[in-house]
Amino acid sequence: MLGDGKSVVLSFDDGPAPLSALENILATLRLNEIKAEFYVLGSEVEQYPDAARMIAREGHAIQNHSWSHSDLERATARNVRLDLEDTQAVIADATGVIPTKVRPPYGAGGFRGHIDPELAEVARELSLSIVTWDIDTEDWGTPQGLGPEKIANIENQFTQQPRKTLFNIIMHVQRGTARDLPSFIDQLRDWGFTIVDPENL
Ligand SMILES: [Zn+2]
Repeated sequence: MLGDGKSVVLSFDDGPAPLSALENILATLRLNEIKAEFYVLGSEVEQYPDAARMIAREGHAIQNHSWSHSDLERATARNVRLDLEDTQAVIADATGVIPTKVRPPYGAGGFRGHIDPELAEVARELSLSIVTWDIDTEDWGTPQGLGPEKIANIENQFTQQPRKTLFNIIMHVQRGTARDLPSFIDQLRDWGFTIVDPENL
């Protein structure tokens, strides 16, 4: 099978809002006994600190996705530093957790072989690893969520990386994804993948 002997980590970007989608996603993860990682925006954590706390309290990893989703590759070193520092601080204030990873918006400046030097420097100062993803669900694309056409595309991405044994799957905190997450988890398990806790890697 596609996922025999292979593992996946589920990750969700752009939270913690919208809150109804977040609550729905957290409930599905709890029911399936899955720990995931959430790359949150500082501006949304400032607005919804309780939602950020809810993510951490449920045992998920909470990580840095910039303050307001700007392109960090194009930003000056000074602005990258302010952006990531402010985001680290607001997450720590809300949850008591200090993020260890940053996923730059759009993956800009974060892909291996194309790492932005200023982003790398600031990430090093803040003890953040720069991460991207292995499987792009494109859950934001119309129709939003993880419907059949998205599943076919995801299956194809797995097939094209035959030697890889651990995959980070990127999704977003949004209604369509929340709706389709239970069936997506079933699909991953039907394919034979083990869904692992990102903190145990
Ligand atoms: Zn994003």
